[in-house]
Amino acid sequence: ELDARLPLSDIPELNRLGTSFNRMAASLEGVEARRRELIGDMTHELRTPLTVVRGYLEELADGVIEPSPEVYRRLVKETRRLERLVNDLQELSKAEAGYLPIKIQPISLRPLLESLVERFSEQLLEDGPVLHLDFPAQLPMVLADVDRTEQVLVNLLGNAIRYTTKGTITLQAWPEASKLWIAVIDTGIGISPEDLPHVFERFWRADQSRDRHSGGTGIGLTISRHLVELQGGKIQVESELGIGSTFRFCLPLA
Ligand code: ADP
Repeated sequence: ELDARLPLSDIPELNRLGTSFNRMAASLEGVEARRRELIGDMTHELRTPLTVVRGYLEELADGVIEPSPEVYRRLVKETRRLERLVNDLQELSKAEAGYLPIKIQPISLRPLLESLVERFSEQLLEDGPVLHLDFPAQLPMVLADVDRTEQVLVNLLGNAIRYTTKGTITLQAWPEASKLWIAVIDTGIGISPEDLPHVFERFWRADQSRDRHSGGTGIGLTISRHLVELQGGKIQVESELGIGSTFRFCLPLA
């Protein structure tokens, strides 16, 4: 029974309700702020290739440039980049909202690692880096989603190849405690100590202009981290400028 003479703020139930309401509002505001930030970042990333495409089309329309295979090739290249970005953005927004479907089961990574090395070796140029496999004969099973693990490895191997012009790229796996570690070790350009803490942030690229040119979106590692953590693992990086980088992640043993 309420005492009509008491000020409302003196009623403990109301106070508790108020506190929990404030907490809920603050957390919703946080979600909303992150969503706004993500949309802002995405818009910014999409605008660059769109501006390039529109520029070419306007110049073609106004007769400022002549239609040529070269012009069309650039348009195709920018359009592909847009397509890649849209696909990556979709994955990223799902990952950030925690909506990436994942199917965890006991799997053996050996066939996946072997087929990836075969597939990526075909992409390597004769004077480019060499791809090595390095893991024990008996590789224990892990609890993981095979497609999501492949996605992470494709990202890491793709980066290693993109940022390594010569030397070796090693795909290593070893069990440790209750985890299986998988590492992609390259002898490429490396990452500076100032840049290293940022590599998993979305849209982050070392040397923005160069990497935009090389077609990177700055999303791959962000998605990779989400995918590894969704599977109960963690991802780490070590790197030295001019020496090379090691990206490794672990998955729980089955
Ligand atoms: P991107 O699509 O740009 O490669 P990522 O999220 O995969 O996006 O990587 C973010 C940035 O981290 C890259 O733009 C690059 O600057 C740096 N990076 C990633 N992997 C490597 C690597 N193996 N060697 C050197 N730099 C790397």
